[in-house]
Amino acid sequence: MMLYNSMGRRKQRFRPIDGRNVGMYTCGITVYYSAHIGNLRSYVNQDILKRVLLRNGYSVRHVQNITDVGHLTSDADSGDDKLRLEAEKERKSMREIADFYTGIYLDDLKLLNVLMPDVMPRASDHIPDMLKLVKELGDKGFLYQASNGIYFDTSRFKGYGKLTGMSFKQLNSRLKEGARVEKVEGKRHLTDFAVWRFASPEMREMVWDSPWGRGFPGWHLECSAMSMKYLGNHFDVHCGGIDHLMIHHPNEIAQSEGATGERLANYWVHCEFLVVDGKKMSKSAKNIYTVKDILAKGHNPMALRLFLMSANYRQTLNFTFEALKGSENELSGIYSFMERLSSVHSTALNEDTAAFKRQLGAIKRRFFARLNDDVSMPEALSAMHSLMNVAGARLGSGRMSRGEARAAAKAMLEMDSVLGLNLGRHYAIGGAALSAEESALLDERATARAKGDFSRADEIRKVLMEKYGIIVEDTKEGQIFRRK
Ligand code: AMP
Ligand code: ZN
Repeated sequence: MMLYNSMGRRKQRFRPIDGRNVGMYTCGITVYYSAHIGNLRSYVNQDILKRVLLRNGYSVRHVQNITDVGHLTSDADSGDDKLRLEAEKERKSMREIADFYTGIYLDDLKLLNVLMPDVMPRASDHIPDMLKLVKELGDKGFLYQASNGIYFDTSRFKGYGKLTGMSFKQLNSRLKEGARVEKVEGKRHLTDFAVWRFASPEMREMVWDSPWGRGFPGWHLECSAMSMKYLGNHFDVHCGGIDHLMIHHPNEIAQSEGATGERLANYWVHCEFLVVDGKKMSKSAKNIYTVKDILAKGHNPMALRLFLMSANYRQTLNFTFEALKGSENELSGIYSFMERLSSVHSTALNEDTAAFKRQLGAIKRRFFARLNDDVSMPEALSAMHSLMNVAGARLGSGRMSRGEARAAAKAMLEMDSVLGLNLGRHYAIGGAALSAEESALLDERATARAKGDFSRADEIRKVLMEKYGIIVEDTKEGQIFRRK
């Protein structure tokens, strides 16, 4: 498998440190508000990467943090904690804000069929680990005190910013030229960053005592402390959105590698932005949509998933409702193809069955080969559509046998192990094809369950049973159904 590594900016053959076991860390969400679908673009594409690794037979240990303290409104160590501000605005505690939006985020991941990480550590639960790291860095001479906290002296870490391809000097002059760099008294270089921020006297929540005074951790510190804790000093893959390439990830590297002397991660994978009219989707640009907004407009969460994976992860993707509608239509086409395969009953023996199956096999291999080439999703999806065309033509001619339909469905379901579009719900071996109404009800039920609305899910189960004769069962992989 080939993977583009931001460290070195080239595609490399993927080789895990420990044979078949892969350690993967993704920088998680800051839970001060609902995630927007730009954030979720990153998480869906990281999910695809993880599924490709799993499909290749690797066992993946996936860690994704939850940021509930320390993420400031400005990257320049000025501004306020995003959670503290939201708590004041909503007149709630920071804990309440964090718990509320963490719940929404987890629901969003379920709705988008993202495989749950193995560990989702909260920053605020790991303050002792972070303080230990601060001490190690202090002992090694990387830290100094400025007016509002303890800072990492980036000039002391050899190769600071190596991920960016820029020198220490270039990085500093870039920040000088950039807009709005608020000065922190005593800060030595623009690239220096706080590992520990002093609390002001009125701060009551999410502040801790430390040998450096009462305060809270700098945002970058949690990822260094928690990735090392759950994956070891040196692990395989580190992911994040492309905005982490210039500051957050170089700072994580400086802290972790400064403390351990070991390389932090072998592969750095960055997902490009979801944009609206060419502008990054972000809360500050006021151009965000949440999953809830998308569902409220009647869209299927799986159509959103398909949309978010429709471009290569290294290219920007522009969000419009027309484009989402396009993914919705594409998804209906895929689902109805699966349903048509379900309804094939013919036991006729075709003399060219073997050739047909070989063709399916070749297309399926192309699909996985494209994914193994730096997760080239658009090309993989186009392979899947070729399979649908080839098998669709045979279906249309009325010559397809049940065995052939099963082979086509099996290939589709295998592809779905990476796509995660719940195709299994639209294929019932030997069953009759679902009507549009039936499949809409099944989808609505799956959505209700993912949202935890079990009473609605039970109601729909009853309607499916009584009105349509469809028996629905819930399994670990989601709901399955059969005709009575
Ligand atoms: P944050 O909560 O700000 O730390 O962001 C969570 C994740 O979403 C990070 O990996 C960001 O890089 C990523 N992200 C933020 N905005 C976008 C966007 N518009 N498109 C893609 N990823 C994004
Ligand atoms: Zn991080």
